[in-house]
Amino acid sequence: MRLDGIHHVTCITGNAPGNVSFYAGTLGLRMVKKTVNQDDPTVYHLFYADELGSPGADITFFEYPGARRGRAGDGMVHTLSWRVASEAALDFWERRLSDFGVASSRADGRLVFADPEGLRLELVVRETADAPLVASHPEIPSELALQGFDGVRAFASAPERSSVVLESVLGFVSVGGADWEARGDSRGGFFGYDQPPAERAIGGAGTVHHIAFSSQTAEHEAWWQTVGAAGLHPSPVIDRFWFKSIYFREPSGVLFELATLGPGFSADEDIEHLGEKLILPPSFEHMRERVEPKLTPLPDPRAGWAR
Ligand code: ZN
Repeated sequence: MRLDGIHHVTCITGNAPGNVSFYAGTLGLRMVKKTVNQDDPTVYHLFYADELGSPGADITFFEYPGARRGRAGDGMVHTLSWRVASEAALDFWERRLSDFGVASSRADGRLVFADPEGLRLELVVRETADAPLVASHPEIPSELALQGFDGVRAFASAPERSSVVLESVLGFVSVGGADWEARGDSRGGFFGYDQPPAERAIGGAGTVHHIAFSSQTAEHEAWWQTVGAAGLHPSPVIDRFWFKSIYFREPSGVLFELATLGPGFSADEDIEHLGEKLILPPSFEHMRERVEPKLTPLPDPRAGWAR
């Protein structure tokens, strides 16, 4: 049983319209699902990914309107990395981010910047046989576009506490230092720790809520057993409709999810029209008339595109 790299990363935004304009506009990802938080259906859960909504390319945001900014600290994810194909892609993104007023710094095959709420992001040139997971955007040539997640970095004061869980329970492979790779049949993703800052962690806008790794659908129940047998107290298997999920906290404090590779975002929307309408999971559909008027109006990220 192997986890197939990163499935999605879920973060927090206090400004949903600004979030749409940054991730679907500046970064050129596709909004693949516009739905509500299943634990609080008066606020959004927004999903951005490649053109097909693939696991491995999916960054999602819970909206807490007006939330104050948080700050990553011990036990929290602090940086998300996407793959790009080449140094030419980094040149392109350095210019594009600057055109959008986003400061970035270039070093050693990577470009580091932050989203409008301070979430640290980076683009990394990575040679890999993994399929590039790319969204279409009229201003971004596909060979220069983001290609899905490369990895996630968290803060941990004693990362050795996590190594047994990462290696013996989850099957990650050490790649040196406090860094690991989760690699399955189709895809891999990196996970690593850095020493935390002195300031304590504060959850809030611009921070990461959890990171999900991909499981084969047929193995999900077995993963639940494995994680439970290791004493990690997993949640029950929760049906998120587009995938099934289990959650647990790894020993350094980062909230992990294992999410099934299927059925995916085209389970309830035509692939041509992903993300255009507010989608409610079937068990929430009866609340639509109450929920929809309460939600923040959002721009259509593809308005004005030639079809
Ligand atoms: Zn999740």
